[in-house]
Amino acid sequence: MKYTLSRLFVPLLTLRQCFGMCLVVLVLSKSSFAQKADLIFTNANIITVTAQGERAEAVAVADGKIIRVGADEQVLLLKGPKTKIIDVGGKTIVPGFNDAHLHPMPIYPFESVHTNIDLSPSSVKNMDELIALLKKKARVTPKGLPIHGFGYQDTKLGGHPTRQQLDKASTEHPIIIRHSSGHITAANSLALQLAGITKNTTNPAGGAFDRESDGTPNGVCRESAAGLLRSDKMPRPQPPTEHEEEAAYQKCFENYLAKGITSITEAGSSFPRMKTYEKLQANGLLLRINLLMSESILDQVIEKRVRQGYGNEHLRISGIKTFHGNSLSGRTCWLNEPYDIVNETGKKDYYGIPPKRNQKQLDSLFQKIQDNGLQIACHSNGDREIEMVLSAYEKIQQPRQPKNKRHRVEHCSITNQSILQRLKDDSVIAVFHSYIYEHGDKMIAYGSRRWPMMEPNRSGIDMGIAVAQHSDSPISAADPMLRIQSLATRTSAEGIEIGLNQRISAEDAIRLWTYGGAYASFEEKIKGTIEEGKLADFVVLSQDPTKADIFKLKDIEVLQTIVGGKVAYEKPNTKDAKK
Ligand SMILES: [Zn+2]
Repeated sequence: MKYTLSRLFVPLLTLRQCFGMCLVVLVLSKSSFAQKADLIFTNANIITVTAQGERAEAVAVADGKIIRVGADEQVLLLKGPKTKIIDVGGKTIVPGFNDAHLHPMPIYPFESVHTNIDLSPSSVKNMDELIALLKKKARVTPKGLPIHGFGYQDTKLGGHPTRQQLDKASTEHPIIIRHSSGHITAANSLALQLAGITKNTTNPAGGAFDRESDGTPNGVCRESAAGLLRSDKMPRPQPPTEHEEEAAYQKCFENYLAKGITSITEAGSSFPRMKTYEKLQANGLLLRINLLMSESILDQVIEKRVRQGYGNEHLRISGIKTFHGNSLSGRTCWLNEPYDIVNETGKKDYYGIPPKRNQKQLDSLFQKIQDNGLQIACHSNGDREIEMVLSAYEKIQQPRQPKNKRHRVEHCSITNQSILQRLKDDSVIAVFHSYIYEHGDKMIAYGSRRWPMMEPNRSGIDMGIAVAQHSDSPISAADPMLRIQSLATRTSAEGIEIGLNQRISAEDAIRLWTYGGAYASFEEKIKGTIEEGKLADFVVLSQDPTKADIFKLKDIEVLQTIVGGKVAYEKPNTKDAKK
């Protein structure tokens, strides 16, 4: 049903004819029994994201929950003497955004030895700027201590930085920087030397070194090869103090709230980090956090008897993040048909890097996680990897779906019709990417013949597959409006169009970014839509995304972020700022 003024007034008028003024008394006395609101947003364009796609004008909140949604007059009946009324002047309200898979990165000051320098295109435009920034960092870093950076994009720099290039920034600090995919690392000569990586070092299973003509690694370490840089001989700064670390995470979380994100799922967490988050929330952080614990601590999780749903609506655990496969934007994921590139590893017929587990090992890992009552969230990008993941899900869920365990495939990038059908039949959640805006140029390596079935959000929705959305931040920006633009346009920043058949409307994209995430963490009964009884988590936007130019969605501003009825972020008032 649509909440419109006419619906409210038609019965009122009819009654008025019958009972005259008695009606007013009736309404007043009835409403006086109802719970009064702490807060009412009125004069809004509310996109409720309910299955019927209703719009509303007002929403009332009490005790952190939504107590009424509807037309202004209807909701204002819950106004009491202490109710705060916020007239949003016709602005749009959507449920709080839910980023179903990301990696919070503590943000330290530039001078700190713990800083991980942002090398993304928003920070450096070319190789010279990248070297200059690392050089600047070297000047404020004690000699011998490592310099870390992340987010460089080879496609924007004209290639991965080699050790010789990084040596120009410093030969007195080991430099270790990560590609935007997170799956490739570039190191300078000192870092390779300290890690003992030489011409004679063979490629580890599931990884590879790029090499110079005489076989010496050139600093570019793919997948598991980067793990060899984690040597005991690599100098380490004193760890940050608890206070420094908390402040750095707080900064990261404040950035999420400023983009309208009210709920996140961290993909690959730990118990110490959970404690940090708990402390931040005790000190007032309103962001809601769901955790997928890292597979490396699976035994610890089992020992502590943690099950899916452990925790509360602020901080909880749903399961285990595991890997089967490699990277899409790093072009290392394993494919059924070869890549369109032949030279990246020097090999012809390049199929990517095979995952480290075989089918049997994968089956038994999944069985163990499921037997312990935990959700499985498995990172997998290439079609050849995803097919193995689905086979494992099918094996452990025999007979098919006695109870929907809501296992997930993270990213699930390169698909085909049979993969989609199996996702549907197995009730597996597809946590698709939305990062064509930033990484569209890397899709060229897959060939345009694959684009119509990459990140297939449109097909997923049409087939009734449970789809959730994520930024995978810092892989792509934790900025839902930019992500929604990417989903609606499938066009990269440079204008490359990737599989336009998989575009979805802004309205559908909002649903994936709200309800989709809530479902993926078993929380759709308490959040993800604006409905009575749900948590009062929502975002006030400067414009209605369903009516805006899809190429300008990223420019829509978040004016206010509300979590549990409290203001978690408010756009600074420009008038006040000028005073
Ligand atoms: Zn991830």
